[in-house]
Amino acid sequence: MTTILIVAEHHDGKLNASTAKCVTAAKALNPAAIDIVVLAADPAGVAAEAAQIDGVSKVLTVANAANANAIAQVLAPQVAKVAAGYSHVFGPSTTFGKDLMPCVAALLGVSQVSDVMAVEGTHTFKRPIYAGNAIVTVEAAVDRVVVATVRTASWAEAARGGSAAVEAVSVDTALPTHTRYVGLAAGKSDRPDLQSAGRVVSGGRGVGSAENFRIVYDLADKLGAAVGASRAAVDAGYVPNELQVGQTGKIIAPELYVAVGISGAIQHLTGIKDAGTIVAINKDADAPIFEIADIGLVGDLFKILPELQDAL
Ligand SMILES: Cc1cc2nc3c(=O)[nH]c(=O)nc-3n(C[C@H](O)[C@H](O)[C@H](O)COP(=O)(O)OP(=O)(O)OC[C@H]3O[C@@H](n4cnc5c(N)ncnc54)[C@H](O)[C@@H]3O)c2cc1C
Repeated sequence: MTTILIVAEHHDGKLNASTAKCVTAAKALNPAAIDIVVLAADPAGVAAEAAQIDGVSKVLTVANAANANAIAQVLAPQVAKVAAGYSHVFGPSTTFGKDLMPCVAALLGVSQVSDVMAVEGTHTFKRPIYAGNAIVTVEAAVDRVVVATVRTASWAEAARGGSAAVEAVSVDTALPTHTRYVGLAAGKSDRPDLQSAGRVVSGGRGVGSAENFRIVYDLADKLGAAVGASRAAVDAGYVPNELQVGQTGKIIAPELYVAVGISGAIQHLTGIKDAGTIVAINKDADAPIFEIADIGLVGDLFKILPELQDAL
């Protein structure tokens, strides 16, 4: 029998959208049950949110002061305990899940199936390899628990409207002391979150400097969009690392993606494979970004962006 446990991702008492995407992926297996486990110091609020996701059978809560911050080494032994009896354990392929799930898989003695983008059967999955240039079908052992991360850009959020039962569980396991929370260094921004935004405006090396990036931020503000960047723009110090889109940055699936002064290297395109409408602004008509763009504007970004702003 297929029963799936999903590890909830949450921050500041709010459930991350990635959890509802994992539920959609889980539904594709036609399981007998989809349960969500919330590990937190005080899981009540997040559990109540998770219980509303359509298709969820039960929400399990593990309350522990040690779970106040998402430390993979602390959470993993607890997830591994709760996983007993489940055929599958899913987590999102976000920074949270990429950190946590390999630890869970190691504790359960299995290899992780990473970046599930399609489900072919209960133990057969599709996932991208070579920076998304090829899709491979992987088969997990049928006699072992399947630990997998779900490629969030490939799955829509499951609808709300459910009312799953919430059940507190106590987990009896020694937690490691070798890894502890020291502090969180995070950029503060009132802008939409890059990973989940419906619209994103990204700048590349063509923008030229940190000061020039102001016009990318201005256009994003006009559109109510998040700001992203190519790796070249990040490496040049125009914007912080967390804005990087692509193979070694964030994989995103906004409805609208505007690429400004970005050439369209394969490692960048990997990050926007699932975007809806792609708009490219580049002065080089032969730039590879135009091969995948739905709308292409050939010209100087310093002329086009102000014009766009005025038109908006
Ligand atoms: C292992 C690996 C992982 C990588 N991961 C990533 C990743 O995650 N994300 C990522 O983005 N890259 C990644 N890269 C780097 C990638 O290969 C490219 O080098 C990078 O994406 C190029 O960034 P860019 O398009 O901003 O710069 P460029 O390729 O230099 O392109 C700049 C573009 O701006 C245009 N331009 C210049 N001036 C103007 C103007 N005034 N008006 C309009 N257009 C203008 C130019 O015509 C050009 O097309 C990775 C590379 C490797 C090897």
